[in-house]
Amino acid sequence: MIIAVMLFGIYLYLNKSLRKYSYQRIETNLIKQTSFAKSYIEENFTKKIQSYELDKIADKIGRDLGLRVTIIGIDGTVFGDSELDGKKLIEVENHLYRPEVQQALKGFSAAKSGIGKSRRFSATIKKDMLYIASVFGKEKLQGVVRLSMPLSEIELISSHLRETLILSLFLAFILAVIVSFAASLFISKPTKEMSLAAKAVADGDFSKRISISTKDEIGDLAKAFNFMSRQIKTRIEEVTTNKSRLEAVLLSMSEGVMVVDIKGAILLMNQSLKDFLLVKGDPVGKKPLEIVRNIEIQEIADNSLRLKRGVESREISVFLPEEKILLLHATPIIRDSKIEGAVFVFHDITELRHLERIRREFVANVSHELRTPVSSIKGYAETLLEGAMDDKENAMDFLKIIHSDSERLARLIDDLLDLSKIESDKLKSTLKQCAIEPIIKRVVFSLNKQAKDKSIKIQTDIPKDISDVLADEARIAQVLLNLIDNAVKYTQEGDEVTISAKEKDGFVQVDVTDTGIGIPEKDISRLFERFYRADKARSRELGGTGLGLSIVKHIVQAHNGQVSVQSVLGKGSTFSFTIAKVKKNGKKFTKI
Ligand code: ADP
Repeated sequence: MIIAVMLFGIYLYLNKSLRKYSYQRIETNLIKQTSFAKSYIEENFTKKIQSYELDKIADKIGRDLGLRVTIIGIDGTVFGDSELDGKKLIEVENHLYRPEVQQALKGFSAAKSGIGKSRRFSATIKKDMLYIASVFGKEKLQGVVRLSMPLSEIELISSHLRETLILSLFLAFILAVIVSFAASLFISKPTKEMSLAAKAVADGDFSKRISISTKDEIGDLAKAFNFMSRQIKTRIEEVTTNKSRLEAVLLSMSEGVMVVDIKGAILLMNQSLKDFLLVKGDPVGKKPLEIVRNIEIQEIADNSLRLKRGVESREISVFLPEEKILLLHATPIIRDSKIEGAVFVFHDITELRHLERIRREFVANVSHELRTPVSSIKGYAETLLEGAMDDKENAMDFLKIIHSDSERLARLIDDLLDLSKIESDKLKSTLKQCAIEPIIKRVVFSLNKQAKDKSIKIQTDIPKDISDVLADEARIAQVLLNLIDNAVKYTQEGDEVTISAKEKDGFVQVDVTDTGIGIPEKDISRLFERFYRADKARSRELGGTGLGLSIVKHIVQAHNGQVSVQSVLGKGSTFSFTIAKVKKNGKKFTKI
């Protein structure tokens, strides 16, 4: 466009000056030719020639020069004209007042060399003409010779010149376009390469490098670009590494983590929390209340976004559907003293709280269990001291009660010590291969007296080829003692107790079955808890501590076995436990 505008300007200027120049050239030529015609007339217009013969001279010069030649007398009479023949000359009007003639005549009278020129419409030949007139006459002024040229001819020349000009300017334009196109290609090629590389970087391909190594601005830019894309790559790698580190940390955390933005919408929730709160689908962008139907979590989230309070901790219960207790720490994210969001860390403390409850209950139970015999001992001892000693009969009864209560106390303390010992010995006791039958026989033997007292028959049903077990003999004996003792205790006179053993899936299962009072269904699941008794009164009456089955459970679990109970109220119960078996000839010692 610029080239086109410039060339057009050049065209306008050149066209104007060329026109002017060619016109001047033609005019100068015409002046020269006029002076030639003047000389020619002066040489040939002698006295011998009559003035009417001037027309022939005019015709001749006109022919030679190819121009219109007019010869005018000093009075303005036209003597000759190359364009008109003799007869017509008479009709030609007087030319004295033609401007060029007047100018030539005036010039002559002023400086002896009169030249006149004029550009006007010729009334004679009806055309725009350029006239050059010159006076002639050797000694005295004889007339005026006038050469004229149609302006259209001048126009023809200048239009020819214009055509040439247009053609050359057009060629110049084409050339300029080709050159500028080549130049722009030369400039745009590296720019294109750069823009492609920038696009690649934007699309995440940082391996793209610009291969321009020129020592100019483009080269500098390419170098800066390559450096920048290397830097971006390094930064992005750093960010990605940090992100995956953070993700790994969040993923491996057992605590639940949730991050919300300033509007309270979830930005992040780690897998632990999703699993814990049973979140299905993507929680990102949702409010906590949409994810977990718990108003407390939403409340804490709103509070920490509203108040710049630092870490806030609260214990909350959620039902999913069982109750879970969560300790929730909420921390607002503050940047430039503006809250931008908040981080929440959830700890599942259900088990902790459960254990605490069990511990509290245990302490309460122990105190209660201890208090009863202790206060009874104390009471009777005080009564004796206050004088009941003298009443021999009562004193004996009181002493018997004191004795039985202190025995109960001793049993309770023994059981408690046993329990804590089993728990602390869990990792120490050594399991040895041992035959189950002799242990059962020994325990049954030790309980024979009690059974006989109640006319209870204890039977054993143990296959001869039963596998040995891997066990701590003394502890297994304790398990059997507790179970058979209970079976005898909670059985009516004359009933039966059967101890049977069988092999099952790599274990030896021992069942202690009685035909006794049985256990109500609602108590079965809690029977192995400490101090839990199905029939409290009977247990106390029979001197039970409520710890027997708990001890059984702990010992069997320490052997990696399992305990179970089946019972029908009023019909009897079967307590079973399993212990890992070993081939009879194999010797095995395992530390647990
Ligand atoms: P206890 O010292 O009271 O016997 P245990 O832990 O040994 O304590 O037993 C817990 C409770 O289980 C007993 O109080 C009793 O109610 C019930 N129980 C245990 N064994 C039997 C059984 N063979 N038949 C009926 N009830 C039983």
